[in-house]
Amino acid sequence: MKLASPVRVRFAPSPTGNLHVGGLRTALFNWLFARHHGGAFLIRIEDTDRERSTKEFEAVIFDSLKWMNLESDEPVLVQSTRLKEHQRIIQQLLDEGKAYRCYCSQEKSDDMPSYEFTCRCATETAQRSDLYAVRFKIPTHQEDITFDDFIRGPITIAWDQLHDFIIARSSGIPTYNFVVVLDDAFMQITHVIRGEEHISNTPKQILLYQALGYDLPRFAHLPMILSPTGGKLSKRDGVVGVQEYRRMGYLADALFNFLVRLGWAHGDQEIFTRDELIKLFTLDHVQKKGAAFD
Ligand code: GLU
Repeated sequence: MKLASPVRVRFAPSPTGNLHVGGLRTALFNWLFARHHGGAFLIRIEDTDRERSTKEFEAVIFDSLKWMNLESDEPVLVQSTRLKEHQRIIQQLLDEGKAYRCYCSQEKSDDMPSYEFTCRCATETAQRSDLYAVRFKIPTHQEDITFDDFIRGPITIAWDQLHDFIIARSSGIPTYNFVVVLDDAFMQITHVIRGEEHISNTPKQILLYQALGYDLPRFAHLPMILSPTGGKLSKRDGVVGVQEYRRMGYLADALFNFLVRLGWAHGDQEIFTRDELIKLFTLDHVQKKGAAFD
């Protein structure tokens, strides 16, 4: 398939742990997609979770990617370096009335399916506390959100599944769903290729793209990597950390070849060179159902 504009994709790990096989497969698919279409593969470190992110994990992630020969075509973007810009846009949304300060909510209520919009209409002057989160005001037109997933086709999320979600915590740190949109737009990402666990975040991100007047990227959600019995992959199913494979003596190209076939196939062919994969890899041949890690 020929794609229009130059392709720009990113791999955006959170440095809250070592790189696992699932994350590495996401990186590989992004890299192959970029190479196949003659585009750019970029890396962004998503360190908005200040408590759990560490420089050590960041170093291990880079080390694993380097071992795999997957390097960013442009300087790596570390999300926290753009904090001032992120906060500026939070303020802009507040000024435009597209977001509001929420004094009652502690972060926990963001996980509730239905926030009662308690602070949506409260007058600002009535609130004295400095402790507030910022919530995005979802539009009231009550239209369901549909996007055309590159792998899964149209996906619709009912409007009543959405609520005024938190875009900045009371600590002043913006949340993942907000920052991911700002930085994907800033990096001019054309295709967001990531794990299927992010499907439920996509409608929130689409609403933010619309509120900010940014062009939407195409979304592609990759199938889950499952345990051999079809459950969630965990340590019990064997080694999941990339560095451990390296220590055991596996070659980077062997792991590359193995992971690429989790969710993608070219007939029955089992062994590929990288050049062959670049030539053959398209998202059309990525399956929707989970792939067992055996
Ligand atoms: N930092 C996110 C993760 O590690 C990436 C989310 C995304 O690709 O949008 O799951």
